[in-house]
Parts: sequence; C-alpha cells; structure tokens
Amino acid sequence: MIPTPDFAITSQRVITPQGERAAAILIHGEKILDIISISEIPSNCPVEDMGNHVVMPGLVDTHVHINEPGRTDWEGFETATKAAAAGGITTLVDMPLNCIPVTTTVDALHQKIEATKDQLWIDCGFYGGIIPDNIQNIEPLADAGVLGFKAFLSHSGIDEFPNILEHHLRETLPILSKKGIPVLVHAELENGGIKSENNKSYKSFQNSRPKSWENNAIRLLIQLSKEFDVRIHIVHLSSADILSEIAQTRNDGYPISVETCPHYLHFASENISDGDTRFKCAPPIWEAKNRENLWRGLEKGMINFITSDHSPCTAELKNMEAGDFEKAWGGISSIQFTLPVIWTECKARGFSIDQLIHWMSTAPAKFIGKDQHKGQISPGFDADLVSWNPDQKYMIQKEAIHHKNKLTPYEGESLYGVVNATFLRGQKVYENGEFLGNPTGKIILNNNG
Ligand SMILES: [Zn+2]
Repeated sequence: MIPTPDFAITSQRVITPQGERAAAILIHGEKILDIISISEIPSNCPVEDMGNHVVMPGLVDTHVHINEPGRTDWEGFETATKAAAAGGITTLVDMPLNCIPVTTTVDALHQKIEATKDQLWIDCGFYGGIIPDNIQNIEPLADAGVLGFKAFLSHSGIDEFPNILEHHLRETLPILSKKGIPVLVHAELENGGIKSENNKSYKSFQNSRPKSWENNAIRLLIQLSKEFDVRIHIVHLSSADILSEIAQTRNDGYPISVETCPHYLHFASENISDGDTRFKCAPPIWEAKNRENLWRGLEKGMINFITSDHSPCTAELKNMEAGDFEKAWGGISSIQFTLPVIWTECKARGFSIDQLIHWMSTAPAKFIGKDQHKGQISPGFDADLVSWNPDQKYMIQKEAIHHKNKLTPYEGESLYGVVNATFLRGQKVYENGEFLGNPTGKIILNNNG
C-alpha cells in the first residue's frame, strides 16, 4: 500500500533532476514520497505553499571547520549548523582540525560526536586526519565511519596537526585504497617564495605563498594518483594554472577530484585592501583573470564541486588592528553565504540554478557516498529542501550572521538569493530568520546508509 503523505510542499518552481516545474513534493516521515502536479494533491493533505520561490535540494557542504570541542570560542556545532541551515545547507562534513583533540584517533572522533549532542541543526559527517605518527589509527578511524581523511603538505596553522611528507602518503594510501574512501589534501608545498617585506601588503602575502606552491603539490598528487588506486581529492583549489593537468589525469582514468571555494570565485586580489586580514586564507585569493579561469574550469567540469571551507577564529586572531597578514589567522567564514555568493556569480555569467545544484548539492553528496539519500528531489530521497528567492537582492549585515565570530569579508556585500525556509528530512528547521523546533540533525557515518 502506498503510504499517505504527511504534507505537501508546493511551489511554481520545484527543481527536480528532470527540470523545473510547478509541483507538489509529497513528504512522508523523513523522505520524499513523490513529486506530483499541484492539482493532484489528495484533498486531506496539508500544504506548505512556497509560492514562486525556488524549491531545490538542500546544499551539501563537504568542507567545514567547526572547532568544537577545544576551540569552541572560534566556532561550535550549534552556531555553525544554524548558520548553515540559514544558508540552505542541510548536510556538512566537519574537518579534523582545529578542534582539540584533533580527529586523528577513534577516541577523538567519539569525543567529537559526543560534543554534537543536541546541537546539530543539520546532518553532519566527519573526516579523520593523517599526521606523521598516526598511521596505526587510519584503519580504525575508517571503520568507525569517517567519510575520508584530511592531510596537509605544508604547515596546517596549528601545531597539533603537523603536516605529512610524501613518504607518509605513500604508506597511508594503500590503506585508504582498501577502504575505498578519499584522502583530501591541502595542496601547498613550501618551496621558495619571497619572505614578506611589508606584512600589511596583500601583494607581499601572495609573493610569500606563490601559485607554484600549489601547482607543485598538485603535480605530486597527480603522480601518486597514477601509482596508487586511490581517490585523491584536492581541497580549496585557488590556482587555475594547474586545472588542465588535473583534468587530463582524470580523463586518463585516475580517480582525482578537486573542489574550489566561494572566496576564490567571488573576490579578486586587485580589490583587497592592504591590512584587511579578513581576506587571509591559504592558498591566497588571486587576480580576477585567475577567478574567471576557475569559473571556466567549473563550466567544463574540470572542477568537481564547490565547498565553503568555512574556517572561523576569534576576532583577536584575525589581527585586524595591526593588519598583519603574516600574523593573522588564515581562514574565511562563509557558511551562511555560499548560496547567495555563488548564485550572484552564476547569474552574472549566465549559469543556471541546475548547474549550481550540481556543484553544491548533487556532486558533493556523491563525493561522500550519500548520493542515494541526498542531493536531489526524487522519490525515496531525504526531504532535505531549501526554498529561496533568486531574484531578491540583499546586503549582508552583521546582525543577520548566525556563525559565532561575525568577522567575514562578505559583510557589506550585496548579493542575490534570499533563503526563506530550510527543511531537514521533512522538518522545517529555519524560516525567515527564525529556527524552529529542536536541533534534530543526525550524525552521518560512512557505514550508516
Ligand atoms: Zn579547510
């Protein structure tokens, strides 16, 4: 017998894999039961009408730094997942740093899961970390359900998470290959670069961390992906110079993938004022021409998807008063704004909402192996939905920011795309600035469906 829907969400603009149409999404429990014409809604079925707003699958952000436990004053699960829900994100994956302890042991993973209790407004998965002395923990962490492993090829910014060297990767990759989960690599190799003369100058910061760091690290990863049958994923690509080499490797059949982030797709270094350390991130933001080449890479399918790399810290650590790029913490807070940032840029370049859904929901859901549950409006999928107005413009103001430390280079930006409601597995969790009910986000493990 076909179950009775609990309710229907209707809109003139529902985006399914088959295209956009006026439709009713029938919800039963946590799942999408069916998508039907509005005229076919059973007479006793309650309706939530979203009018002319776009209703599309909730976004999946596979690169977020929440920092709890241990550095909860930087960011915590409650504030990060609220900001995510307000931004139309329904699933995120948390990085193994900058929490204390870092997620490099099973015990640390359990501490992290414990810390999420009653705090998750959206679903949340985890990565484990690879550091020089934890090879014995890799297999147990994989069995405990992490969705992948993160490693650095240069200093991570915190001493508890030391970077690894090529030989560590060579020892670890066979284990990951056996487990079928990816290694996500911060791809910068510290080879050369001019030590900054003027720590307030953004140009000097770029010179101290040239594109060759990233290009060379990626060439090493390309080589390793050819030697080991393992999924290698390059996080937060900033240099467009190396895109054709990555694409060629994938075309040759090697499982290498790459993401980029809103700050590389929205800002251009020509416009960054000296001393404005809100823009510090690693690798650096490059010139407008590089940004356009990243967009071309997305268009051609050379870049697989987009993540926020939401990486907050306290205002003090951003060192705004001194404006010192050398001393400031590197990381940009953006989780609430990835949808309007990317949509504004898409709109300017003629990209469709379908393309945005692919880059920000469907492809990242596939990356974490959850594409049977997340990332599309289809029968049987989780009823993770966002309703938003792509034509409404607004300015980002501090008061409307939900993540913990409000410092962000997006403050004052005028963007298209206002989220009016977010549904997590059939439950409305956010509507017009308010959070509804209790936090009911679930932990997503590699082995729990
Ligand atoms: Zn990161």
